[in-house]
Amino acid sequence: MSESFSVASFIGQTRPMLINGEWVMSSGGEAFPVFNPATGEEIARVTDAAVADVDTAVAAARQAFEGKSWRRMPPAERCRLLWSLADLLEANADALVEMEVMNQGKVMELARHLDVEGSADTLRYYAGWTTKIEGTTLDISFPDFRGDGAQGPAYHAYSLRQPIGVVAAIVPWNVPLVMAIAKLAPALAAGCTVVLRPAQETPLTTLRLGELIMEAGFPPGVVNILTANGPEVPAAMAAHMDVDKVAFTGSTQVGKLIAEAAAKTNLKKVGLELGGNRPVIICEDADIDKAAQGVIDGMFVNAGQMCFAGSRLLVDERIFDQVMGRVSELAAAIKVGPGNDPSSDMGPLISAVQKQRVCDYIESGIKDGAEILTGGKALDRPGYFVEPTVMVCRDPSISVMCEEVFGPVLTATPIKNASDIVEVTKEANNTPYGLTASIWTNDLSRAHALAAEINAGTVWINCAFAFDEGLPFAGHKQSGWGHEGSRLGVEEYLEPKSVVVALS
Ligand code: NAD
Repeated sequence: MSESFSVASFIGQTRPMLINGEWVMSSGGEAFPVFNPATGEEIARVTDAAVADVDTAVAAARQAFEGKSWRRMPPAERCRLLWSLADLLEANADALVEMEVMNQGKVMELARHLDVEGSADTLRYYAGWTTKIEGTTLDISFPDFRGDGAQGPAYHAYSLRQPIGVVAAIVPWNVPLVMAIAKLAPALAAGCTVVLRPAQETPLTTLRLGELIMEAGFPPGVVNILTANGPEVPAAMAAHMDVDKVAFTGSTQVGKLIAEAAAKTNLKKVGLELGGNRPVIICEDADIDKAAQGVIDGMFVNAGQMCFAGSRLLVDERIFDQVMGRVSELAAAIKVGPGNDPSSDMGPLISAVQKQRVCDYIESGIKDGAEILTGGKALDRPGYFVEPTVMVCRDPSISVMCEEVFGPVLTATPIKNASDIVEVTKEANNTPYGLTASIWTNDLSRAHALAAEINAGTVWINCAFAFDEGLPFAGHKQSGWGHEGSRLGVEEYLEPKSVVVALS
């Protein structure tokens, strides 16, 4: 039972993975270490799936799909299972928070509200969709070539929405539970079966989620979880001939490889939630205190390791110094420390590699002429901590400003006149990404005019970031294909089918 769950014993033994309702070790017999980014120490070992295990997991998912017990299950029953899983997540919140903080590094409050409660909310939202999947009927205009002079509509035509089939889900390490549930909830609501591969850095809460999935009563094979070190296993999933859809969240670079793998094999459907580099426009009439706080909240949450991080600040030159003074003050006051210390505001980066990458970006910015207002260094202590960093980039085309750093690095540039919609839009859209954007102004007309022109899937006006499962979340341009959230989110896992019946 969940109540007797112990984190210490869970992580104290090499964790197996979930295939066809069974907890199994890799067929290759290997395991890999998992670390605490706040200390750099190994905290657990996890079985390392071999490429052959992809075949086994996909076969289990295929059998569960074709066996029809899942997709033909009454929708209200699927709904109840998703609700039960949400309840189990909440009942097990303390242990999930402890493991997420230990393995991913984020602060406890964020792990509780975003990862655990947010995931439960997502499950309940999609549980609701199970009973609302519907097609349409219509009178069609196809001529009656039979020439028998029949009166009235010669056909009855309707459309069905059916589950796509076996889904391969590949996700990153920044919000492991959120990412797992973002794929599982809509896919399961639609009646698909899933092979999920959590990021190698953060498999622990996903493995615990697997236990809760079985405890909730999902049939074997409906959800399979493969843990694997390195890109071979997820690459094999993306290329697998018996996978019907690959649902990927990660970098734009790897997203392109996923699309290529799908195109080169069975042309499976592809959903991509990719990188971002959010422009944050602060107009001369904005409430500076609110905007500065919003900049901080939307940038340094999860140490900047968020696809929506507002890392590219575009500030009207008339208020630039004032805004940057306030932003630097707030950034310098952020307390950096282990996520399990309640006084920490910001935890470490995920790994030594990521820490080095972020430090290299800061160095490159300095070489390219950026000025550091605060931060700029890694902390001299164990673990992968980097200071909240604020940089002024007079040239907004330098790499630290125009690429996705995915760390606690805020870049800012002054813009000539924020009331010039054309110029501001040009600068905001001057990026290959198009995930999110935000605007701070008290001029309602300007806010809406900018929101209409900025090429991003989500635009926030006078707020840092705000989500709801009822709103579609999607990347424009090189930030992705497809949607998560809203009706569109479940439709990503459904295929329409048209049925036409001759009436005589
Ligand atoms: P990544 O692209 O390096 O890895 C993502 C996942 O893909 C990981 O599980 C990784 O092991 C796997 N992978 C790596 N190489 C692969 C290959 N050749 N074939 C198949 N899978 C492979 O990204 P990351 O560093 O883990 O995560 C950070 C990125 O994720 C950022 O770009 C961020 O913006 C993006 N992200 C996007 C969203 C969104 O909703 N748009 C949300 C979170 C993160």
